[in-house]
Amino acid sequence: MALRVKALESLMVEKGLVDPAALDALVDHFEHKVGPRNGARVVARAWTDPAYKTRLLENATDAIAELGYQGGQGEHMVVVENTPAVHNLVVCTLCSCYPWPVLGLPPVWYKSAPYRSRAVIDPRGAIAEFGTELPDEVEVRVWDSTAEVRYLVLPQRPAGTEGLDEDALAALVTRDGMIGTARL
Ligand code: FE
Repeated sequence: MALRVKALESLMVEKGLVDPAALDALVDHFEHKVGPRNGARVVARAWTDPAYKTRLLENATDAIAELGYQGGQGEHMVVVENTPAVHNLVVCTLCSCYPWPVLGLPPVWYKSAPYRSRAVIDPRGAIAEFGTELPDEVEVRVWDSTAEVRYLVLPQRPAGTEGLDEDALAALVTRDGMIGTARL
């Protein structure tokens, strides 16, 4: 696969269809500028700033843009909040819709047919396979991301983190926690 991509790339550069510098800029963008660290900043801000959290739950796209994260695949964001009684899980049952500005590119399993079907048929079981056993009394809500709407889970702030600042809190937030396959 790597060779095929390389061959295609050389051919397109040779024919003048793509500019290698533009390709480098694109790769750099996805490697360094977008990714789950952005989502973690959003979550940490929501944990420490109640007014921001309110804005985030009311209009996620605007609240996320306040931190500078916006653009393709993040135009219509909805943030769903985990509570002691509710756990949220995000899937795209059709394909692989995913909020790039806050989470980067989706992991391979997110695009797989088994995840896409299991998340709907047996969300509790799917989450358990990722290592999180949810207590029976916790309700699981499944959100189907689409080309129009992208969901992000706001995990619960872990106990014992009262003394931590925003940077330290952001370091605790994982990609899977924001997809909902893990519970922080
Ligand atoms: Fe999709």
